[in-house]
Amino acid sequence: MQHYFGTIVSGKAILEGNQAHHLLHVKRANKGEKIEVTDSGTSYLCMIEEIEPLSILVLEQIQTRRELDIHLTLAFAALKGDHNDLIVLKGTELGVDTFIPFLSNRCIVKPTSPEDNKILRYRKIAVEGAKQCRREAIPSVTSYKELEDVLSSDAEIKLFAYEEMSGGSDTIISACKNMKKGQTVLLVVGPEGGFSHEEARLALDYDFTLVSLGKRILRAETAAIFGASVIAALSEEEG
Ligand code: SAM
Repeated sequence: MQHYFGTIVSGKAILEGNQAHHLLHVKRANKGEKIEVTDSGTSYLCMIEEIEPLSILVLEQIQTRRELDIHLTLAFAALKGDHNDLIVLKGTELGVDTFIPFLSNRCIVKPTSPEDNKILRYRKIAVEGAKQCRREAIPSVTSYKELEDVLSSDAEIKLFAYEEMSGGSDTIISACKNMKKGQTVLLVVGPEGGFSHEEARLALDYDFTLVSLGKRILRAETAAIFGASVIAALSEEEG
């Protein structure tokens, strides 16, 4: 069943932006077809009652909640090529609600502006990913931040994936053992060249826990997706 974001007004669903176009001309939906529409975090089962003009009737509210019970922010270093696309798409499916692309000492790419075309592309990927996995919310993607701005976060659980910790006992799992519903969790993952010792020390100064993601050194995108997976799974386990 197709999933869209829109507004529910007097028992009708109004799709946002180009979603009506997508429904009619890409998906070629028919009268009588059922779709899901999410409005401000609540999803509804709807039925297309007319195609021209488009009229979508709300049938019932859908009870299942697909958002995580924690607020997960994933901060990832700007990577070469389209590796960040994968982080945003997979992170969206995993329940991340905020993405923060950042620049750190060893980033190979140096974006020229805080909001380049890549950032706009990540936001599109987040919408498509949220639709595909039928989430009630679309994750936000901030503009590029400097690492120190990311580290000054007031998240309740602050995790800094540090490759020098790999294989150590301070694992991401042990760092999340007291995670509770409703908490804000921030995971920071470095670039291809990793983090410097100074950056790791700065993270400690900002009360981050330096964590291992296991014995192997993962590619940055693998590390981000793995870390988000573990946190999401533990949060749903805790639920
Ligand atoms: N250039 C680094 C090296 O050779 O040691 C590897 C950096 S890794 C490709 C990119 C990022 O993924 C790291 O900065 C870290 O945030 C994370 N990462 C990868 N493997 C990790 C591990 N086993 N433990 C903790 N963090 C890891």
